[in-house]
Amino acid sequence: MTRSIESALERATHALLRALPDGVIVDAAAKKPYETDGLTAIREVPGVVVLPRTTAQVAAVLAICREHDVPIVPRGAGTGLSGGARPHAQGVLMSLARLDRILAIDPNRRLARVEPGVRNLAISEAASRFGLFYAPDPSSQIACSIGGNVAENSGGVHCLKYGLTVHNVVGLKVLTIAGDELALGGATLDTPGFDVLALMNGSEGMLGIVTEVTVRLLPKPEAKRVLLAGFATLAAAARAVSATIASGIVPAGLELMDRLAIRAAEAYAQAGYPLDVEAILLCELDGARTEVDAAAARVRAVFEREGAVSLRVATDDAECDALWRGRKSAFPAVGRLAPDYYCMDGTIPRAALERVLRAIGELSGEFGLDVANVFHAGDGNLHPLILYDANRSGELERAVAMGERILALCVAAGGTVTGEHGVGVEKLDAMCGQFASAELAQFHRLKAAFDPDGLLNPGKAVPTLARCSELGGMHVHAGRLPFPELERL
Ligand SMILES: Cc1cc2nc3c(=O)[nH]c(=O)nc-3n(C[C@H](O)[C@H](O)[C@H](O)COP(=O)(O)OP(=O)(O)OC[C@H]3O[C@@H](n4cnc5c(N)ncnc54)[C@H](O)[C@@H]3O)c2cc1C
Repeated sequence: MTRSIESALERATHALLRALPDGVIVDAAAKKPYETDGLTAIREVPGVVVLPRTTAQVAAVLAICREHDVPIVPRGAGTGLSGGARPHAQGVLMSLARLDRILAIDPNRRLARVEPGVRNLAISEAASRFGLFYAPDPSSQIACSIGGNVAENSGGVHCLKYGLTVHNVVGLKVLTIAGDELALGGATLDTPGFDVLALMNGSEGMLGIVTEVTVRLLPKPEAKRVLLAGFATLAAAARAVSATIASGIVPAGLELMDRLAIRAAEAYAQAGYPLDVEAILLCELDGARTEVDAAAARVRAVFEREGAVSLRVATDDAECDALWRGRKSAFPAVGRLAPDYYCMDGTIPRAALERVLRAIGELSGEFGLDVANVFHAGDGNLHPLILYDANRSGELERAVAMGERILALCVAAGGTVTGEHGVGVEKLDAMCGQFASAELAQFHRLKAAFDPDGLLNPGKAVPTLARCSELGGMHVHAGRLPFPELERL
């Protein structure tokens, strides 16, 4: 069996070398950088790496994989945090990084049409001369690709007001494994037919390859203010988040950092954060100058009422940027606190913030591992960073077990097991706790409709029914699994 799979890969590799003479990596050392994405605990050297430059070359790669029955894993910039771009040892890893052209910026229609390998931040940089920007801004925006953003339905600091990737993508070109090019979406607010455009957002490279993305651009706001508030307890900061939204204000961003995260970010970025508090909130307001000033006064009043012990308002761009620099560099900064950390991503209703943060603190004590919290509080999107040392026996396993308990807390609070980082391979088991068998079976039918042979990014995002039943996440009656017609992979 293994021999025939290997020879299929070899035959595919010969065909790939003919189709893309300067775009195939077979050398073991040169393939190594592709063995992992941002979830570095999981590694696998790909069978072969291909780097197409054009959509026609992407189509050729798909045709070769189809012909030789070889799995294919798409990859953008490899910053994903859930192992979505984890390679297949007997498969093709297709990097879309060379498809990096900005095809058109249309200031009149406020649209940008780009190839999938274009970096998120590069879109706003290109649109800036027209006074426009692209709103979804993952903290990784300097590196991550728009194709990866679509596949993960990525979020960021400003998604509280402007929505996730799915709310800002108006058109896609997608190549299916069958070789068809789908043109999805369009210039009008609604298009006839099923909303496959929305379906592609968050599809984690399992339904098709995104080869072109058209995004909505927004006018840069006339003014912005960033409020920095310090709180004596994490609970008070959490309550202030709910109170702000309940007051009817929609901040552009509302982020929370706890003591560990503040200290790490301040040492790293010198953002001017207070060091004598247990938590800070960063709240950005943007829009017309008068509107922003009025909203800032209201937020200030809410923060004071909820017990803020320090408050600062940044009004010019340099000061605002400095405050955000700390938040945006918090992930690498926390990396200095321990040899390793495990970044969780779950979402809860805002009203549950105080309770869930307290429970995470208790888990930290129970597992003997520190946690730094830095997250999109306005969205209820938690990012507990569990600190551990992989060189100490059992610590990685403890961190993983603690992460699972945190996700279970999110589901129990009425939330979800992923906020913006996707399921990948990391959250497969957690999906069994989130969904019942009927939903999971429907996901598999959907996958099969796009990719009947399961060649596109196999083994990601949707757990097999057998895996869930083994975990006890699916009811098995009298030894009979539900949905027997579906393959147990
Ligand atoms: C420091 C740091 C901070 C981060 N902050 C955020 C944040 O604030 N918000 C957030 O949402 N995420 C964040 N992330 C996670 C990550 O940056 C996002 O998930 C991002 O969208 C991944 O883009 P990528 O180009 O790196 O994709 P990759 O990691 O290469 O791939 C991600 C997934 O997309 C698929 N894929 C990639 N390109 C295509 C394509 N063209 N067609 C089909 N499928 C494709 C892959 O198969 C994989 O499943 C952060 C990551 C890091 C390391």
